[in-house]
Amino acid sequence: MTATSPQTPDRWSLDSWFTAFAAPDYVAFKTRLIADVESLLSRAMALGRGVEEIVVLIADLEKVAERLGHLSAYLGCLSADDANDEAVKSDESWISTVEADFSKLRACLQSALVALSDADFAQVLEAPALAGAEYAVNRMREEGHHQMPSDLESLAADLNVNGLHAWGRLYDTLSGKMVFDMTFPDGHTESVPMARRRALMSDPDRRLREASFHAGQKPWLDHADTLAAGLNGIAGTRLNLYQRRGIPHFLDSPLFDGGMSRASLDAMMQAIQTHIELPRRAILVAAKLQGTSALHFFDLEAPQIAAPDEKPLSWDDACATVDRAFTAAYPKLGNYFREMLAKRWIEAQPRAGKRPGAFCTGSPMLREERVYMTWHGTVHDMVTLAHEAGHAWHSCVLRPARSMASNYPMTLAETASNFGEMILLDGLLSDPALAAPMKAYLLDQEMLRAHAYLLNIPMRYEFEKAFYTERTSGEVSVSRLRELMTEAQVKWYGDTLLPDGADPMFWASKMHFFITGVSFYNFPYVFGYLLSQALFARFKAEGPAFLPKYEAFLSATGSASCEQVARETLGADLTSPDFWATALRAMEPTLAEYERLDVVN
Ligand SMILES: [Zn+2]
Repeated sequence: MTATSPQTPDRWSLDSWFTAFAAPDYVAFKTRLIADVESLLSRAMALGRGVEEIVVLIADLEKVAERLGHLSAYLGCLSADDANDEAVKSDESWISTVEADFSKLRACLQSALVALSDADFAQVLEAPALAGAEYAVNRMREEGHHQMPSDLESLAADLNVNGLHAWGRLYDTLSGKMVFDMTFPDGHTESVPMARRRALMSDPDRRLREASFHAGQKPWLDHADTLAAGLNGIAGTRLNLYQRRGIPHFLDSPLFDGGMSRASLDAMMQAIQTHIELPRRAILVAAKLQGTSALHFFDLEAPQIAAPDEKPLSWDDACATVDRAFTAAYPKLGNYFREMLAKRWIEAQPRAGKRPGAFCTGSPMLREERVYMTWHGTVHDMVTLAHEAGHAWHSCVLRPARSMASNYPMTLAETASNFGEMILLDGLLSDPALAAPMKAYLLDQEMLRAHAYLLNIPMRYEFEKAFYTERTSGEVSVSRLRELMTEAQVKWYGDTLLPDGADPMFWASKMHFFITGVSFYNFPYVFGYLLSQALFARFKAEGPAFLPKYEAFLSATGSASCEQVARETLGADLTSPDFWATALRAMEPTLAEYERLDVVN
């Protein structure tokens, strides 16, 4: 390890994973993996109804999946680290074909599980070799129950490439080429790529937001018919497939993916509606700070208080601050964070060729975590570090569980990361030495997040639900899509949105509605946000006595439904609006401080 200046973050080390990319150990690992996936696949295709044979195959599949996950995570790390490395890219595309074989393998196994009698299936679940994997195996069979015969599934897979996913690719191509002519506040006109519009619409300068919003509507309006055809095509394909697979409601599939029930979803949305004045009050403060009576749609993502213009934060100081906050509130998390730094599990060095963004990944084979980010010296980066360290801690807590019991759904994925983030923010905000401008900035950031999760994302869910409901009886026109979008915005924002402040074209400009791999790419985020608020509120109320419960919660995230995990580890009932109401009210003290800001300013 070479000595680095104290200001420069270390690069991460992946030495314990492989000697190097394309080194002999890497090549040998790849060769063995290919052979083992092939032999598993032929065993799966010839799979009969013998309990013993099925149990052994599931256990073998788990081990091979760990190795595949190990290699895939390694390649993911390398390609983020150097986005231009073509050899890595070529292995990444190779591994996606292995993953496709793996899905075929799973499909064979699912059919075999469905063909078993309930008594035989009970024997599979009781097999000692599968202890701890019951939830995962049950889900495999449940998914299998909603499969069409294999020739139809294979036809659907082919048609999805040329139908469903083709609509998504069309959206990406069309939106990727969009440009609009915008007149800037200084009078100059420029042709702006659509990709820049989001940044312009979250600029602190309101004139930039307004100009980019209005000018940027034109391409969406020009292509409205094409985009509506795409949206109708995506939803129509899904509805056909649900019908053929015997899935009664369009929410069943995203709820299954989230490991949660409709009752919990409804209870959560109902509680937000009941407490809607809380996030709306945050919007009103933001409106007052900018001197308007309410916000326009183009104001919603803009900070009202800029980050204090201080000298860049050093990496060492940021690590020390995160460590202090973690250690004070949760010593085990502090220890783990220091261990990550000592073992060089965090990549943060600013360097050309790195992919933007941040993530946490890990090897399911070695049970080691890694965090990827790029350090630019901002408070925002420090919060990202705490967020990703929270994710890594979740995996660390799950280490004793077998890998089949370590996969948690999107709904539970953000709990630990938000928890880590909140420990840092809470530590910063309760520090009497914190300067007033920084405190104001942090409060504004927190409230921006609150109304995004509690108004904007529920609004998207509401729109999508109304759209799918109407789509079941035929195509939905552009004008109707505009109406549904406006109705959803008015319902959630009420009069905190200016009278002409809605964006009827948001169904077209928001890429999330066109993601073909996941439907309802919205409510799991609301769920994750509120659940982490609830957990943190209990931590504040119960103190360190809460932490063993928190760890029990994290340990169970891969082996039971959201409802069961919450009931058994926290005694919480996710199907009750009261649970969500408590989570919502947890924002009251921060909101009150935010409201005091507008008096001070
Ligand atoms: Zn995250």
